[in-house]
This record gives sequence, structure tokens and C-alpha cells, in this order.
Amino acid sequence: MLYVCDYLQSELEEQFKELGEKPYRARQLVQWVYKKRETDLAKMTDLPEPLREKLEGLSLKSSSLKMIIKKDSGENKATKYLFELKDKNMVESVLLKVPSRKTLCISTQVGCPVDCKFCASGKDGVVRNLDVHEIVEQVLMVNKDLGAQDQIQNIVVMGMGEPMLNYDRMIKALRIINAHWGMEIGARHITVSTSGIVPGIKRLADEPESFSLAISLHAAIDEKRTEIMPINKTYPLKDLKLALKEYFNKKNRNITFEYILLAGLNDKPEDARALEKYLSDLPSKINLIPYNPIEGANFKTPTVYAQRAFYQQLMDRSVFCTLRETKGSDIDAACGQLRLRKVKKVTS
Ligand code: SAH
Ligand code: SF4
Repeated sequence: MLYVCDYLQSELEEQFKELGEKPYRARQLVQWVYKKRETDLAKMTDLPEPLREKLEGLSLKSSSLKMIIKKDSGENKATKYLFELKDKNMVESVLLKVPSRKTLCISTQVGCPVDCKFCASGKDGVVRNLDVHEIVEQVLMVNKDLGAQDQIQNIVVMGMGEPMLNYDRMIKALRIINAHWGMEIGARHITVSTSGIVPGIKRLADEPESFSLAISLHAAIDEKRTEIMPINKTYPLKDLKLALKEYFNKKNRNITFEYILLAGLNDKPEDARALEKYLSDLPSKINLIPYNPIEGANFKTPTVYAQRAFYQQLMDRSVFCTLRETKGSDIDAACGQLRLRKVKKVTS
């Protein structure tokens, strides 16, 4: 089986040449898929029939994901998609809607090996990496579902999995999503979120594109961070900071920090002080995210009063932050939860 969305346009042109076809035919195919959102070869009417037959003979597919659940949140601020992959594994993507723009949160792995204690994606470890086409097709399928008049403007690589642990496929997929012949989403509108995998951050800093970077920090005190994110043992805060400074110096881009608020654990004045200190020499923005409870974890969401108090402590220290309203928690929008429930239902 061959998948269109595994290839850059230039690679498809080469492949077409090898098949004895003109390279512009490859460009026509790419246009059908990304610009007209047509995944059915039979409907690509300006490709000659013998070529279409040849491509069918090679089992060339423009889409391999099957949408099995689409669930809107009550206020229609988020839509969750659960996709079945060719091997029956499942991944999810979440569409977040504000009136001015649509942001799609995409997955890069089935499950996650990082094992953050508050996260549903990591609960059963990692099953496998997603292929390039499986990452790209999440965007394609949701764009198709939105219809010709509408489209996704922002991508956040914040769904299931740790993107830096599937680096090569992730970056190629982003390149296709970003390309002028592809989905034309600007690099600045594409954010890669990581739990702090230092080698990945260094590689991203050396890429020609300036993709945005988000760090799942969740604590600025090593002992606390290690307790909720064991990966902190491998890449402690000090090493992470050095990599982030390098990223900032090379890209001159502010970094976003994600900080899940866990009652009594990382929402105390000492945590606000540590955060201020940690970020003092790094232009950054913090997203405070109230913890979304998951099955099998003992954390608690701080009260709204405590959330606002933590936010205020940071603002008083001139640490710029936003307090995120939990979008779509009623549809299990936090990372990996819908899939986990479905998998449990199927296997129990
Ligand atoms: N692995 C990458 C990207 C995916 S996870 C990373 O960790 O950055 C991205 C985000 O999912 C986390 O930063 C966090 O914002 C969110 N998340 C995971 N579990 C959550 C929970 N229980 N409540 C709220 N947000 C959660
Ligand atoms: Fe993996 Fe990110 Fe979840 Fe941690 S928060 S387990 S890195 S998906």
C-alpha cells in the first residue's frame, strides 16, 4: 500500500517520473488531495483514466483513516474526532473553535511512552508511532469534514503521544501541512508541544522553519516535576532550560509553557516563585490549565478561587499568563481520554 500523504510533492514527482509519467501529473494529484480535499482517485477527473488505473494497481491511497466517532461539546466550542487506523488502532484529534479561528490538536503516537502521572495518553504506554500520512491525514479528514467553505488555521501537536519521540515522521508531516502545495498553514501557526525531550528541542531549533514551541512544564521545582513527570529525571529543569535558551537564541521566538494546575501539588506560593525564577530570563507565556480528572489518578483540580489566586500571584510578579477555561472537558477533550475509554470498552 502506498499513501499520498507520506510524500513531499517533489518525491511524488520523482516517483511519477520513474513510472514513466509526467511530473505535473503528480502535482495535479497533490492538488486534488490538499486543495480540493478529494481523496477518491475515481473523482480526480483531470487525471487520465489509464494513469488512475495504474495508481490503483499500485494501491495508492489518499486517505487511510476511518472516522469512527465525532462528538461535539455542549457549547460547540470543541469537536472530538476518534479515527481508526489501518491496523485498527485508534487516535484522536480535537478541533477547538473560537469565532475567529479553528485549531486542530493532532496526535503523533498511539499511546505515549512518557508516563506523566496526570495524563490518559500515557496510561497504557505506547503502542506505536504514527506514520507521516497518519499525522497529515488527521488534518485532511477534519478539513474535509469542515467543508469547502471552512478550514483549520492552526495546528497544535498536543494530542496523544510525545512528538519529539517520533521526530522524523512528525517533522515531515508538519512540512507537508506547512507547504504552499500542501495545506498552507504557516509555520508560526503550527505549535509542537513536548514534555521536555532535550535532543528534540535542539533539533527543532536547527530546522529551517520556525515552528512554534510549547513546553509542558507543570512544575518548576525538580522534585515536584519528577513526581508527576518521571521524564524529568532524564532531562532535569537545568538541562531543559539550556536547550530552551538555545532555541530562543536561534529562533528568536517566545516559548509557550503549559502548566496544569494540580491542587496542593503545584499551586502554592513557592511554585509561583519557582516559576518566576525559572522563566526570568526567557521570553515566554504561560497557559495555566485546570487539571481535567482522569480515571486511575488521584490528583484534584484546584477550586476556581485557588486557580485565580495562582494566576494573580504570577501576574503580580509580572509573569505573563492566561488561565485556560477547560474547553470540551465534557467530551473528554484532554489528551487521550476518549480513546482510552473506547479501548477499555472494546477489551473488557
Ligand atoms: N506529549 C506532549 C504533547 C501532548 S500532551 C506534551 O506532553 O507536551 C499535551 C498536553 O495535554 C499537556 O501539556 C497538557 O496540557 C494536556 N493534558 C494531558 N493530560 C491532561 C489532564 N489530565 N488535564 C489537563 N490537561 C492535560
Ligand atoms: Fe505523553 Fe504528553 Fe501525556 Fe506526558 S502529557 S504522557 S508526554 S502525551
